[in-house]
Amino acid sequence: MLTSIVGINWGDEGKGRMVDLLSEDYDVVVRYQGGNNAGHTVINEKGKFVLNLMPSGILRDTVVNVMGNGMVIDLKHLCGEIEKLSAAGVKISENNLKISDKAVICMPYNVLQDCLEENRLADKKFGSTRRGIGPIYGDKYLKKALRMGELLNMAKMKERLKDILEWKNLTVEKAYGEAPVKYEDMLSYLEEYGGKVKKYICDTGLYLNEAAAEGKKIMFEAQLGALRDIDFGIYPFTSSSSTISAYAPIGAGIPNRKLDEAIGIMKAYSTCVGEGPFTAEYFGDKAEELRKAGGEYGAATGRPRRVGPFDVVASRYGCRMQAASQIALTKLDVLSYLDEIEVCVAYELNGKRIDEFPFPDALEDCKPVIQTLKGWKCDISGCRNKNDLPKEAYDYIRFIEKAVGCRITYVSVGASREQYLIMD
Ligand code: GDP
Ligand code: MG
Repeated sequence: MLTSIVGINWGDEGKGRMVDLLSEDYDVVVRYQGGNNAGHTVINEKGKFVLNLMPSGILRDTVVNVMGNGMVIDLKHLCGEIEKLSAAGVKISENNLKISDKAVICMPYNVLQDCLEENRLADKKFGSTRRGIGPIYGDKYLKKALRMGELLNMAKMKERLKDILEWKNLTVEKAYGEAPVKYEDMLSYLEEYGGKVKKYICDTGLYLNEAAAEGKKIMFEAQLGALRDIDFGIYPFTSSSSTISAYAPIGAGIPNRKLDEAIGIMKAYSTCVGEGPFTAEYFGDKAEELRKAGGEYGAATGRPRRVGPFDVVASRYGCRMQAASQIALTKLDVLSYLDEIEVCVAYELNGKRIDEFPFPDALEDCKPVIQTLKGWKCDISGCRNKNDLPKEAYDYIRFIEKAVGCRITYVSVGASREQYLIMD
């Protein structure tokens, strides 16, 4: 059984929370793209955790966690995350953590480059998390990146590091006028932090292929959502990797295998971190109220998230791009304070109603077409059965389900593991 857990929207849909819940029935959880720009919050009996690089299955003793070749890994950050989790009593060893030898290393000079470029862009900035993710994916495709497997043969790696730095410093020194990045510093960085994680590095594709052949259940955990996908998202305000389901087998290292299920994680309203077009955005008090109710401040960066009503056009597109076979609707409890709940059911572009997500350039000129549904005005965070839901909440779920054209099987009504209900 191969299942992906993917974001339908702009990210922060609650993927980590759902992976933590659903991984009970899985043997392996794999992160297949992105880096420590991810912030997946998990709350369970072990405590509250914000995971950046680590797959969210790490909190289950029975799950093997894999960091796939599609990821970009900041070694120092990884060491910090392992230390923090260990201090909280989570046991991490070669038995439950495996890192792909083909995953790319996100270097300190990539972080530097990310910051220098965002500063140069000033008011035209992309809203990068400044963690080097864009620059390192760029290096990967330019074939100027170091990979985890190279840490196992430092003699060879040293040669490549020298060549890469000579090239990288052309940009750092000559383009940005900064002091060159020193070879000795980078080497000792790789030796110190790489040395600590060496034992986890292996051919994870081989491991996963064998696990799949043995009939083990494998879950693929995405970072961000469909609308941040490098190809299908709101380019250029996207992430630099493929966040979609179809990429999961590739980024995990088993392109020879096919997914059985794609569970789309979809939020009951819209949020978006950083820059870029966000058609149904709320401003002022209306925004502040929703932001507060949902605690919408970035897990990785603490930045206040932009908020808005549920967007049918973007979400239906997200479901299609993710090939979602079912949906987990999250954060429904957050809407309990509203008398009436707005839903963006279509866009208006140049006086015409449109129902399909347009080429991103057009989004700036799109206006939301709003339909209003009745609120339920009571606490639903204790509901554990669909029959416990107030009629208005049940109707809201069914309205959204019909609008996006994909069945909603789980509804999350709180951040803790057990705060959910099943719809069918
Ligand atoms: P991810 O990046 O998709 O894993 O999502 P984040 O962890 O960045 O953001 C989701 C936030 O909502 C986290 O703070 C979760 O603890 C919280 N959360 C998840 N599901 C629910 C829910 O159903 N209700 C409420 N109130 N909070 C939730
Ligand atoms: Mg997040």
